Amino acid sequence: MTASNYKKVFKQLKSKPVKLKKFIKHNAPKQRSCGKNLKICSRCGRRGAHIDKYGLNLCRQCFREIATKIGFKKYS
Ligand SMILES: [Zn+2]
Repeated sequence: MTASNYKKVFKQLKSKPVKLKKFIKHNAPKQRSCGKNLKICSRCGRRGAHIDKYGLNLCRQCFREIATKIGFKKYS
């Protein structure tokens, strides 16, 4: 099983619906109500260094790359 995304195994289990059901029951990620794991960068999927301000939903690395394109200006 790949650890990065549990949905990758669905393709393999499509022909076995009962096993697929069981797999989903025991391997689906826990639904979280709070915490830093909920905030994911909309551009690259990173979870750290999240910028929520102004509804950006980007990580700092992506923000740095596209800041000038979306109208931010560096003053220093
Ligand atoms: Zn990002």
